[in-house]
Amino acid sequence: MVKGTKAEQALAREEASSSRPKRQRVPSIVEEEGENGGGDVVVRSGTLFELDLLDCPICCNALTIPIFQCDKGHIACSSCCTNVSNKCPYCSLAIGNYRSRIMERVVEAFIVRCPIVAGEASSRRLRVPSIDEENGENGGRDVVVPSGTLSQLDLLDCSVCSKALKISIFQCDNGHVACSSCCIELRYKCPSCSLPIGNYRCIIMEKVVKAIIVPCQNAKHGCTETFSYGNELVHEKKCSFALCYCPADNCNYAGVFKDLYSHYAANHGSLSTSFRWGHSIHACMIFESKSYVLQKHTDGPLVVLQCFKEPQGLFLTVNCIAPSAPVVGKFSYELSYSTAGNTLTFRSSEMNRIQKVSFQTPEKDFMFIPEYIFNPTGLFKGTCICIRSLEEEEEEEEEEEDNED
Ligand SMILES: [Zn+2]
Ligand SMILES: [Zn+2]
Ligand SMILES: [Zn+2]
Ligand SMILES: [Zn+2]
Ligand SMILES: [Zn+2]
Ligand SMILES: [Zn+2]
Repeated sequence: MVKGTKAEQALAREEASSSRPKRQRVPSIVEEEGENGGGDVVVRSGTLFELDLLDCPICCNALTIPIFQCDKGHIACSSCCTNVSNKCPYCSLAIGNYRSRIMERVVEAFIVRCPIVAGEASSRRLRVPSIDEENGENGGRDVVVPSGTLSQLDLLDCSVCSKALKISIFQCDNGHVACSSCCIELRYKCPSCSLPIGNYRCIIMEKVVKAIIVPCQNAKHGCTETFSYGNELVHEKKCSFALCYCPADNCNYAGVFKDLYSHYAANHGSLSTSFRWGHSIHACMIFESKSYVLQKHTDGPLVVLQCFKEPQGLFLTVNCIAPSAPVVGKFSYELSYSTAGNTLTFRSSEMNRIQKVSFQTPEKDFMFIPEYIFNPTGLFKGTCICIRSLEEEEEEEEEEEDNED
């Protein structure tokens, strides 16, 4: 029982030095929405339905600190370590020497809600067919599956690179964890304690990270997609519910792109120029205003033409205010500037999308008008723009043909 004593000593030391605050109360979903509706501060949390991951696999009791793991990554609670004489029942390797500290922190941070108190919003409902299903359409009944909530999602990030942990996750003998690419980067030396890292997997964390479900960051704007932790980032870049900001001066409106288009048409319609796909229009831009808004007739996509004056000349950019979501469609444009019988043309096969207008001089994707041909008096009388949308133009042409019939 020497090893058991070791484990107990480790625990005693840990408890003596532990100053971690006790469990925090997690705000309910209703509170989160109330406090943060429209604000920038978002309390994100992950949901775990596979609650057995928080149980000791040997005794099936809820895991409590300390949690030990063998070199193969099997875990056990301290009383089970004692009961199995510190010999892992799965692989016979020693267990009871090394703690899975990250798992201890995760277990401590988890809040398991009582499904009846928490209500429907935080629990997953499963439909269980009743025995006499054939007798009626509503024969089945809904069963509420309990779930756990983790609001300290940073526990699921690599402490070295801060990216979401994913398979494989490694830990040193002191229980510090790192992702596999950081282990290589650090030459298999733990940055916290210099012990080797990269030999022993933290299997339980691999399972937990994979099982934790997080909503899209834009859930409060209507996105219903959910992801295994870490996988939401790819989606969020092209989520159609990403907030877009009103380009009008002194307007703080932000909303989902379609709502923004309606908002703009209703509130600032007189400030913009209406355009149609494939029709060239003069952009009667006033240089001082720096940006010029075009809106597809009548409450369609918003396109912002901007100019930036630099000593060497003028930079012109064209961006659509929209998220990078496929539903927005793809637009191309042609920009031309004519002066004293010369014309400069800039064609782009795909218009960039932005969620917010920036007033930084662009570094790429701009039309450049050199100082020597730029005519400040006749400015922008000579600027023309033609915007195209392949998908929608086809539709419009079909509509026109239908009308002719
Ligand atoms: Zn146990
Ligand atoms: Zn084992
Ligand atoms: Zn890392
Ligand atoms: Zn370490
Ligand atoms: Zn989304
Ligand atoms: Zn506005």
